Amino acid sequence: MRLEGKVAIVTGSSRGIGACIARRYGEEGARVAVVAHTKLDKAEAVAGEINDSGGEAKAFQADVAKVSDCERLAGEVAAAFGPVDILVNNAGIFTAVPIEDTTEEIWDSQIDLNMKGSFFMAKAVVPGMKAKGRGKIINVTSIAGVGGFPNSGAYCSSKGGQLNMVKALCLELAEFGINVNSLAPGNIETDMNAPYRAEPGYDERQKSLTPARIGHLDPNDLTGAAVFFASADSDLVHGANLLVDGGWAAW
Ligand code: NAD
Repeated sequence: MRLEGKVAIVTGSSRGIGACIARRYGEEGARVAVVAHTKLDKAEAVAGEINDSGGEAKAFQADVAKVSDCERLAGEVAAAFGPVDILVNNAGIFTAVPIEDTTEEIWDSQIDLNMKGSFFMAKAVVPGMKAKGRGKIINVTSIAGVGGFPNSGAYCSSKGGQLNMVKALCLELAEFGINVNSLAPGNIETDMNAPYRAEPGYDERQKSLTPARIGHLDPNDLTGAAVFFASADSDLVHGANLLVDGGWAAW
């Protein structure tokens, strides 16, 4: 097991990519904080699966777009499990809308969660990581952080910011033994993009754009990269962006 005894927070882990990362961290021996936005029972279900499989997990609730919730969550997890070793900033939202229809609320909701939430979650765990002299912070960014998509100005801005944040925090925190890196998924089959995947020809279009000729990836395809960034194998990897996208961004 590669994360034996480590304490991990995975935000937005009541479903989708976060739930898959949480389950895999549990298999690798981490004590996992499974975090729901509002529905604690959903996080309890994922934590229950981890516990039933011989791992250790506990459910928490936090609106990561709120700084006060970030601080409360970090405190509750540290009280339950001890100081946090691994933070996965996975919680995110995507609202596809043309620029003319992008309201201040639509803009703020994506920037507040995807970008601001990642920063303030990192801020909340950094003191404990500095005290330990080690830590792993992983931002789940996106191919939308390295390339543009139409009707996605706010989302691409949030993901680009969340990605460059990795470099800034890496420069600031590497000397304290804290690794800050980015895992950038391509098109993954989750609830987030279910409406788009249901559009006729979606998978065919994605296949033509993806060198690996896949329509979409499974969220479990990301868990190996998430374990790498959380484990000692990445101790000298700082400020990196690992794309798991079937080659989408290589054109
Ligand atoms: P998802 O919608 O299935 O999961 C997102 C999670 O974030 C949910 O558990 C949701 O409850 C949580 N969340 C939403 N608002 C929150 C808030 N205010 N506070 C706390 N949690 C909140 O989506 P997913 O596909 O699993 O996305 C996970 C991450 O991966 C996101 O950051 C997303 O931008 C990124 N991503 C996804 C894809 C994809 O194709 N699915 C591609 C690239 C990047």
